[in-house]
Amino acid sequence: MADKCGMEETGFSMRDSMKIKLIVFITLLLLLCPGCGSKTEPEAGQPNLLLISVDTLRADRLGCYGYKRPTSPTIDRLAEEGVLFENAIATSPQTTPSHMSIITGFYPRAHNVYMWGRDENGTYSGRVLSGEIPTLAEILKGYGYTNVAFTGGANVAGKIGFDRGFEIYDEESNSAAAVEWLRENAEEQFFLFYHTYFTHAPYLPLPPYGSRYDPAYLGKIPSYDELTEELGVVKGELWSGIWQALYNRFWSKVNPADPADRYHLHALYDECIGYVDAVFIKELIDTLRTEGILDRTLIVFTSDHGEEFFEHGRKEHDSIYGEVVRVPLIMRLPGALPGGMRIEQLVRGIDIMPTILELLGIPLDVEIQGTSLLAAATDGKELNLKAHSDYNDFFPPVIDSIRSGPWFLLMDQRTRSGGEPGDGSLPRFFQLFNTDDDPGETRNLAEKYPEVAARLRTELRALRIESSRKHAEEGADQEKAAVDRWNVERLKALGYL
Ligand SMILES: [Zn+2]
Repeated sequence: MADKCGMEETGFSMRDSMKIKLIVFITLLLLLCPGCGSKTEPEAGQPNLLLISVDTLRADRLGCYGYKRPTSPTIDRLAEEGVLFENAIATSPQTTPSHMSIITGFYPRAHNVYMWGRDENGTYSGRVLSGEIPTLAEILKGYGYTNVAFTGGANVAGKIGFDRGFEIYDEESNSAAAVEWLRENAEEQFFLFYHTYFTHAPYLPLPPYGSRYDPAYLGKIPSYDELTEELGVVKGELWSGIWQALYNRFWSKVNPADPADRYHLHALYDECIGYVDAVFIKELIDTLRTEGILDRTLIVFTSDHGEEFFEHGRKEHDSIYGEVVRVPLIMRLPGALPGGMRIEQLVRGIDIMPTILELLGIPLDVEIQGTSLLAAATDGKELNLKAHSDYNDFFPPVIDSIRSGPWFLLMDQRTRSGGEPGDGSLPRFFQLFNTDDDPGETRNLAEKYPEVAARLRTELRALRIESSRKHAEEGADQEKAAVDRWNVERLKALGYL
């Protein structure tokens, strides 16, 4: 067989031989030119990273997770073109510890960064992430990435450690600024973190969203238009100083005992998701596509926790049942990740960072608690992970849980006698569910399967001990930071202060 030049096929063509000479020449030139091949620059072709966290987004409200309403066409398309994890479990139902797990690979008890709390002087302060624990942004910065974040601040405020490694850490949840940054810096090798509270209560989808899913509602829960009118807020200035009033007014009108009100809350929440998908997420993805960098950007889409609508008697996210800790997790990077792959096994918030690093080809030099999910995503490898989530209004957490396969053990570490766990008396409550047979987690099987409960309780205790040890080794040098005025307003808006 002959090529166009009439030369015999030998495995090398003349063009190949010239290519090799050219590569040798360029290599010699680089060796003779100090600095030309600087190690601080990312490898050519190394993907960008877009990490999106939509706060308070339960997985089962998205089309790609089987929801009946068309809330999420943009996110669904990401799933069709990437890998979707069907059972991703947040480490905490609270924004701060859960997000800190995502960006460090450590469980909350190990990184020990929790929500803002009132200190002995009466001021709100929060523990700052230990300098011994590197963040995702810091690691990527070491490999030449330009890191920028556009977040909602408040419980992901930069000053408690979230801003480490970022050149820009915006706390106004400004998707327009994120889009503008992408347009102006598409040539950069970047990590962009986008976070929004738009699906957090009070659920106020902006018009024309808000009346599609429950147009016949006649109850008292106010719409965006009604609420802004009642409170005399100028539209467009909604997110500037009147937030706490909005939050309180909204919930004061909700009657949880009224099925119509409960139905309407679901509808409003779904509308907020629709808005986020159609506006914020779509604009970000479209910008990547327009700039020609979509397929060389790793997109990771997730949330810090879900939301409860009275399934276990509460509103918002004050428990660790499935509706509150099952979050979406979708990753898209053509060429490195298959399209349309769905992974059923349990995965965790702490696994996101190591998976990202492995996908970007960046080594991890510290021992963390998370595990890379890449082998599961590409080859379906069974990792047999156990997911731990814990919760309390104030640290240290006392409501603890572990998930292993179909089993979910939930317990209050405080004992009925008021003593410490391990003193022999029974915990205040102790529940075991089989989530395959009982996805709503309503039938307590702790007495029926005491051996399963005992095994999981032992594993949970081992996890607690390991996390405490990790904290003692790497997290002990923590400082405290006082909340700033801007974030006080944000926290009031979200119902935290
Ligand atoms: Zn949150």
